[in-house]
Amino acid sequence: MPILVMKFGGTSVATIDRIQRAAKRVSLEVAKGYDVIVIVSAMAGKTNELVGWVGETSPLYDAREYDAVVSSGENVTAGLMALRLQEMDVPARSWQGWQVPVKTTSAHGSARIEAIPTDNILKKFAEGMRVAVVAGFQGVSPEGRITTLGRGGSDTTAVAFAAAFDAERCDIYTDVDGVYTTDPRLCEKARKLDRIAFEEMLELASLGAKVLQTRSVELAMRYKVKLRVLSSFEEPSDAAGTLVCDEEDIVESNVISGIAHSRDEAKMTLISVADRPGIAAAIFGPLAEAGVNVDMIVQNISEDGRTDMTFSCPTDQVLRAQTALEAARDAGHINFHDLDCDNGVAKVSAVGIGMRSHAGVAAKMFKVLAEERINIKVITTSEIKISVLIDRKYMELAVQALHDAFGLDKAA
Ligand code: ASP
Ligand code: MG
Repeated sequence: MPILVMKFGGTSVATIDRIQRAAKRVSLEVAKGYDVIVIVSAMAGKTNELVGWVGETSPLYDAREYDAVVSSGENVTAGLMALRLQEMDVPARSWQGWQVPVKTTSAHGSARIEAIPTDNILKKFAEGMRVAVVAGFQGVSPEGRITTLGRGGSDTTAVAFAAAFDAERCDIYTDVDGVYTTDPRLCEKARKLDRIAFEEMLELASLGAKVLQTRSVELAMRYKVKLRVLSSFEEPSDAAGTLVCDEEDIVESNVISGIAHSRDEAKMTLISVADRPGIAAAIFGPLAEAGVNVDMIVQNISEDGRTDMTFSCPTDQVLRAQTALEAARDAGHINFHDLDCDNGVAKVSAVGIGMRSHAGVAAKMFKVLAEERINIKVITTSEIKISVLIDRKYMELAVQALHDAFGLDKAA
């Protein structure tokens, strides 16, 4: 029988009543003839509570015990979902990560899935089980200890199961009805997309559209897993949600598919550093070691052998960046006159595979921002994305103006 993977996020299993509604959806797919692998998150808020308890008990906690505690939320929902399905006469069984086993690396707190042997679950399907309810977000390390995959990791569990079992589709049930052209809270004209390409979704996910864990989209792209994002609060329908799929499965699309934003950015500039070979390595090496996620980088023009180096990073990493750079200066590895820090910037990005074949997208974006008198501080581009750093107070205006200018409120 064909296999379907259905993943229910925290809000979709937040109460016994909602678990019941989710189980109903599962039973509908079983009735259509699918064997179903259900991946569940912990009840909404549970994982945060568990993380809090760990911190209260042990501020510098042992990551193995963190995983032992934090993975437990999913165990509860997996068992309850299986029970509910059994109540509906659907043959169902729950599985914790180690029972499958979901084999991961031993990077506790952010482990990666290395293999999912399918024989145990397939054997049960062959014996008449119709639903395997698997606890998301967790696995087992080569040492035999429980691991977790990083926050939001049950999306990745779902896609990895879909790839391993060659599922027909992977449906991700959440509290929004799909992927939007931009954040509906910022722009009321935001429109739900019927389809979006893996690469675009990857850019949007990493740019802060929090619908899917970035890693899950990477996996889906690599294994060509058809991924559908849909709401568990709407009536079931085949056309519901957004399909994240291969570029070739998208017939028509706008040049730009979405406008993403990221609010809490900081721009840091090292003023007057020596312009010599190795200087970028001397600056960004220590930042990487300190765990600073540097995003955009600009080296300004050089004068008399000295230059300014600008980069952006999340605001909550500014202190760490400052400390690392000052330590590098004190150690004599770099030399700068001043470190300028602007904590009030935001990043706005236009994303679309259509950019590959259309010239003038960047020019249009800059013109729109100019007309709104928004000053651009830093620009970066990739093949399918243009990002600008602007004053945070203009972020909403920029998103709305770009959404209008690229006609995103209308389908192609
Ligand atoms: N429960 C985990 C979290 O809140 C994993 C997930 O729901 O995706 O991060
Ligand atoms: Mg999530």
